[in-house]
Amino acid sequence: MDNYGHLSIRPRRQRKYRLSKSRAIAQFCLGCAGDSAKEVTLCHSFDCPLWEWRTGGHVSNAGYKRRMATALKNHSDELAELAAMGVEIAHFQP
Ligand code: SF4
Repeated sequence: MDNYGHLSIRPRRQRKYRLSKSRAIAQFCLGCAGDSAKEVTLCHSFDCPLWEWRTGGHVSNAGYKRRMATALKNHSDELAELAAMGVEIAHFQP
């Protein structure tokens, strides 16, 4: 039993922060992309082993599809630049 000295009540336990694999990958990708969620979304390092999981879920998930639909709509200029650089934009399509 812990000794809490003069305290009459036991302090509440701290909630454990659970780091899932997908959350860990998303955090890693954020660090890689300079803390920019947009850069993670538009990451075109297709050969990176984390690419399919970069947004915190697999590319087959509905969340990814929604995120990419929003990105394709909101960041069309950046995507056009990427396409001009020769990046295969079809990779982003879910
Ligand atoms: S998929 Fe790879 S290159 Fe792209 S942000 Fe994540 S770690 Fe970096």
